[in-house]
Amino acid sequence: MIDAHCHLNFHSFEKDRNAVIQSAFKSGVTKIINAGTKIDSSKLAVELAKEYKNLYAVIGVHPHHADKLEDDWIEQLEKLAKMPKVVGIGEIGMDYFSYKSNDIVDPKLQKEVFLKQIELAHKLKLPLQIHNRQAGKEILEILLNHKSYLLNPPGMFHCFAGDMDLLKKVLDLGFYVGFDGNITYNGLAPGEDTDLKDLAKYVPIDRLITETDAPFLAPVPKRGSRNMPKYVIITAKFIAELKDVNFEDFEAKTTENAIKLFSL
Ligand SMILES: [Zn+2]
Ligand SMILES: [Zn+2]
Repeated sequence: MIDAHCHLNFHSFEKDRNAVIQSAFKSGVTKIINAGTKIDSSKLAVELAKEYKNLYAVIGVHPHHADKLEDDWIEQLEKLAKMPKVVGIGEIGMDYFSYKSNDIVDPKLQKEVFLKQIELAHKLKLPLQIHNRQAGKEILEILLNHKSYLLNPPGMFHCFAGDMDLLKKVLDLGFYVGFDGNITYNGLAPGEDTDLKDLAKYVPIDRLITETDAPFLAPVPKRGSRNMPKYVIITAKFIAELKDVNFEDFEAKTTENAIKLFSL
């Protein structure tokens, strides 16, 4: 079982990071990919990958941070992208959700930063790890307009949300899809109109990737507590049951998917 998207590079793991990593490996997680959201968290993801055998990094600037960048951010990112065990560019994308702590960043800026990173990924032949919150239409338009920049396979949509039409188009482009612990929650998230369970049921198992987005989105019954990579197993069991797939087969297939996509 692989946790293909989490943030052990975030502050909430500062005090017990090693214990969290060891408990994940003890629980049956075999590989973990930490995602950067700006330059410093990307740097730390790369350092952790150096330190631990089965840890990898994807590096990138999240749309939230698109308005707080230094002039040479893309050069800094390119340097990081060439470090060992950097397996993708992420998390990158667009986000139109209005957060209490950080309102919507200027969409023009978000798009500019997203595009520069798509170009970088193309240059370095790295897959994308895409973050979308209520901006599926715009992301799709950008990807379709830059189809020649996409690898085969092009990457994954992490923490997928949106409608069935977006999902179908994302799959048509060759993307893999990941779901987090929020798939175990009842009801729809604000601004969404399609149940994540219906979306996950539709995704062919050879396109599914397992992930947590830890420290966020812990699955039921851990909801409300800090999410950890080992809880990827709880979410995976939930999705396997949803899809009526035997857990061992689900684990084998999704592990194979992540290894293939990110060349782990
Ligand atoms: Zn995200
Ligand atoms: Zn994330």
